[in-house]
Order: sequence, then C-alpha cells, then structure tokens
Amino acid sequence: MSAMIDTAGWYSAARILPSPNFNARPPGVVVDLIVLHAISLPPGQFGGGHIERFFQNRLEIPAHPYFAEIQHLQVSAHFLIDRAGCVTQFVSTEDRAWHAGVSCWSARENCNDFSVGIELEGSESVPFSDAQYVQCARLCRQLQRRYPQIGEDRIVGHQDVAPGRKWDPGPQFRWDGFRSLLRDSEREQGEELG
Ligand SMILES: [Zn+2]
Repeated sequence: MSAMIDTAGWYSAARILPSPNFNARPPGVVVDLIVLHAISLPPGQFGGGHIERFFQNRLEIPAHPYFAEIQHLQVSAHFLIDRAGCVTQFVSTEDRAWHAGVSCWSARENCNDFSVGIELEGSESVPFSDAQYVQCARLCRQLQRRYPQIGEDRIVGHQDVAPGRKWDPGPQFRWDGFRSLLRDSEREQGEELG
C-alpha cells in the first residue's frame, strides 16, 4: 500500500507516461534538490491533457494559438500533479529531466543536473487544490527517503533558482502549509514502520 520510489527511479503511485525529453545526469552527481513548478496549458486553463502531451512532444497545435509558440520546445518534468492530485511521471528520477533551464541554487548552476522537478497544474492567480498539497507532500517525502540528501530546506521553487526569469510556483503556493504536511507524512511513515 505504501508508495515508494524504486531503485530505477519510478514512483509506484504514479501513472507513467514516458517523455523522450531527458538525458543522463552527470557522472557521480548526488540528487539533493527538488524544484517545484506551476504550469497550465493553455495558460490559465486546467484539464485537457495538454501538459502531458507537451512533455511528450505531442501537442495538438490547432487546439490553441499559444501551442504554435511553444511547439519547438523540448521540455519535461519528472512529475506532474494535476488539480485532482493525480500524479504522472514522465522521466525516471535517476535521469535528468529538462525543467529548470538556466538556473542556479546555492552557487551551483544547471539545477537539472542534481534536482527532481515536480510540476503542479496551476497558475499565478488560482489557489492550488488540497489534493495537490497532499500528493506533493507524499511524493516529496518518498523522494527524501530515496535521496536522503534532500533536506527540507532543499525543496525550492523555480522562482528561487531562476529569479527574475520564472515566477512559478508563485504567490499562490503556501509553503508553510506544505511544510507542515511534509512533516505529517513523515510521522505517518514512522507509524507505518513502527
Ligand atoms: Zn517552472
């Protein structure tokens, strides 16, 4: 019943939709950062499966004028958490997904090399759903179990690693509430193990 990240880097609680947009992490790199993002496609609209298709290079270009602008991009995240809290995984956490772009954290550049990227379906103006917080905390807790170097202070926003260039997950994301959920899911794990 308990969800986990297996040794190949796949999350047992996720729907798997493989993306071609990944490559190997640099040799010897330690995964020690989680970058949270927000995305909606078309911008401001939820549902429709466009994010999933975007990460698989299968956007339906005629579906919206904006899609022609982004069709040349080859990007991905390891995970997407939709409005209902459903988790989809596109890239193994052992591999390097293409989510952070030009980025820097703690004087280290190219955060894609050493981070896991989680996209939350959301926007700058709409609160994230409770289900998204719950599932994001559970996923982050399992990532911390798989990669113990990911301390609580190493779960950051895209806006923190690409300031001025990226806004997400943005002002709607309640970091305090998220961190207390993360601690709760840690306690639940402890009780399970006990
Ligand atoms: Zn982002």
